[in-house]
Amino acid sequence: MKGIGVSPGIAIGRACVIKNSKAEVTGVLLKDEAEISNHINKFDEAVNLAIHEIEAIKQNPDLTLHEEDIAILDTQIEFLSDPQLRDDVFEKITADKKNVSDALIETIANMVQLFQEMYDEYMKARTTDIQDIGNRILKYLIKSNSGFTQAFEPGTIIIAEDIAPSDTITMDTQNVVGFSTQMGSKTSHTAIIAKAKGLPAVVGCGDELTAIKDNDLIILDGLTGLVFINPEDKIINEYNYKRDTYVSNSNKLKQLKEIQPITTDGTEIKLFANISSADDLEAVFDNGGEGVGLLRTELLFMGRDSFPTEDEQFEFYKRVALQSKGKPVIVRTIDIGGDKQLPYFDLPAEQNPFLGYRAIRICLDRTDLFITQLKAILRASIFGDLKIMLPMISNVQEVRQAKSIIAQAKQELLQANISFNAAIEVGIMIEIPSAAITADILAKEVDFFSIGTNDLCQYTLAVDRMNEKISHLYDPYNPGVLRLINYIIQQAHQHKIHVAMCGEMASDPLATLLLLGMGLTEFSMSAAAIPAIKNIIINNDTIKAKHIYDKVMAMDSSDSITQFLQEYTVQ
Ligand code: PEP
Ligand code: MG
Repeated sequence: MKGIGVSPGIAIGRACVIKNSKAEVTGVLLKDEAEISNHINKFDEAVNLAIHEIEAIKQNPDLTLHEEDIAILDTQIEFLSDPQLRDDVFEKITADKKNVSDALIETIANMVQLFQEMYDEYMKARTTDIQDIGNRILKYLIKSNSGFTQAFEPGTIIIAEDIAPSDTITMDTQNVVGFSTQMGSKTSHTAIIAKAKGLPAVVGCGDELTAIKDNDLIILDGLTGLVFINPEDKIINEYNYKRDTYVSNSNKLKQLKEIQPITTDGTEIKLFANISSADDLEAVFDNGGEGVGLLRTELLFMGRDSFPTEDEQFEFYKRVALQSKGKPVIVRTIDIGGDKQLPYFDLPAEQNPFLGYRAIRICLDRTDLFITQLKAILRASIFGDLKIMLPMISNVQEVRQAKSIIAQAKQELLQANISFNAAIEVGIMIEIPSAAITADILAKEVDFFSIGTNDLCQYTLAVDRMNEKISHLYDPYNPGVLRLINYIIQQAHQHKIHVAMCGEMASDPLATLLLLGMGLTEFSMSAAAIPAIKNIIINNDTIKAKHIYDKVMAMDSSDSITQFLQEYTVQ
């Protein structure tokens, strides 16, 4: 069976199948004011108990909590205390006379739907968190229990429809050696926590997973996403060996933290991280990251009911700047629109949202919003090494227009006597084919490029990156995509500007030497991916990389390219 491998490592053990029981809406209406006020009290009480429960988890000496765990628990407390949640539930209780459980179930369902409709995979993955928070409160309203409170036998592999982040945080890792779920995605918090705990996990297996029964012998490969049910001895032996090799390799990788990413012939490489908040910075430095190659700012605009003010944004960027230890941080201006909607920003529905009114197109149209964000970034720029990056650039006019708005933002700050870094660097994402093809023109306008392969791939190949049906066509090794990437890098070099890659391809070990061969020396990726890429860099030289590059660029199909790269990576 194949799912999505979200937390690497091999687990071999016995299945324990956990059934998720879903609370249903009862439709029971409240009769009078006394019942209404009783149900409002019940809600407040349940929220308080849920907050206490999280505080208790945070204080529990038996749990080894990682930074990621604490950050997620803190976010849950914040969400539980959010007046918006309370207002929405109260409205349903007081105006619609719904009982408290129904009111909560419906409020959470609305929020889940809102996040599910978002275009950004990261935001979509937040639905599990919202559901998790809803279930935490509900547990105290209807006194239900999650299947995770039971004691597990040593060597247990949990099989479930889905697992909440909170259940992953408190999971008994003495006895549970891995888990697999029907639902889930790479960027869900459940996946992130599993990775931090070093617990192998495969998610998104679909209905096939229901074939597994309690006590079946299971092998999980958290890297490839393979799940074996009652395999034969030959496979068990093979995976016992793979598991031991993985454990000794990952111990070695951890020791790479202090080692500089330099090739054996002396080329210095910079490995940066992609983050969405200041809380992510700890993991960046833990994994030996050089700074932040992409700060996605969308998170700051989500989960609220109005645009964040300049001061609110300033506080966010300032926190990131202060916590980044003087290392560079590339702040990407807002990349909303299309399917990535904000509830308070009323955009008309579009036929082709991916090709629509979004990102820099909105910013150049709604200069009021753009200037607010720019001024906040500029004000924070005196607290660290911040740079500005513009997403979704398709032509040079957009760059010039954006630069003149940046100049206007600076002018306004000057007039108000507010300090900022006047020499702040401005760069662009190259993620639209027209930008890639005109990299020679755009390079004259900016301080740096960052190659966004996630979008560059979708637009070059005309393959919607969110559509699972055509995911086999979403292929960064397509010679068309590789030629564009190569051209962007060459043009950046020719015009002596920095070029990095911040799309997912930057963290693909298969691509590392090829990209080095193209001359790429700056990579930005999820923090956890840094050690493995560093390991490739410090064990190879640019002569080999150039050889791989020459061979690959002469090949005619992604099949031959990936096969060649796989053979080379194994050697
Ligand atoms: C990209 O498109 O490669 C990228 C890094 O941006 P996002 O994934 O946020 O669209
Ligand atoms: Mg993009």
